[in-house]
Amino acid sequence: MERICIYCGSSPGAKPEYVEAARSLARALVRRKIGLVYGGGGVGLMGELARAALAAGGEVVGVITQKLVDMELACPGLSVLTVVDTMHERKARMAELSEGFIALPGGFGTLEELFEVLTWQQLGLHGKPCGVLNVAHYYDKMIEFLDVAEAEKFTQPVHRRMLLCEEDPERLLDAMTAYRAPSGDKGIWVRELSRQIKPEG
Ligand code: AMP
Repeated sequence: MERICIYCGSSPGAKPEYVEAARSLARALVRRKIGLVYGGGGVGLMGELARAALAAGGEVVGVITQKLVDMELACPGLSVLTVVDTMHERKARMAELSEGFIALPGGFGTLEELFEVLTWQQLGLHGKPCGVLNVAHYYDKMIEFLDVAEAEKFTQPVHRRMLLCEEDPERLLDAMTAYRAPSGDKGIWVRELSRQIKPEG
């Protein structure tokens, strides 16, 4: 993988483990010569992640909106800062530039970005690995909820398995490197949905 996109909080979070994990993920990427793509911010875990990758000698590409630049929220000193007009453009650009996606702890923005790329994979629009770094059990309840969604038959097992969850950055990167998107998956799902519209027999 040449570049991975990291979604994470624009806040540092309550526990020091969150900042430590952002830095250690950044260093793990640099060791593997994987470039970092992220939202371009200088605040919270985003800033910690970008500065740690730059300090380790890595490539950091930020994709940010003009509005956030005007609010002086961009991180100075990035390898590349791409400025776009809208949040939609920004997410599409971040996804195009990356061969995989990881969510560190974060709030609404992080969750929305993670679930969007998972949904795109469910629709067969890409086959890039999507992972969560479950730092200090931050994501335990979200992961449990995804099991509820599967048990209640709103998420198919094949789609539930698309989300890779690990507590250690190296293990997550290993899982992402080994990941193969489910083949024929889109067909099964589309057939199931169309059966509901047009019952067989
Ligand atoms: P949140 O998890 O709600 O803090 O939002 C973080 C995510 O939303 C990041 O991955 C960014 O892509 C985007 N984002 C939110 N706030 C900012 C900001 N101040 N600067 C840049 N990106 C941001």
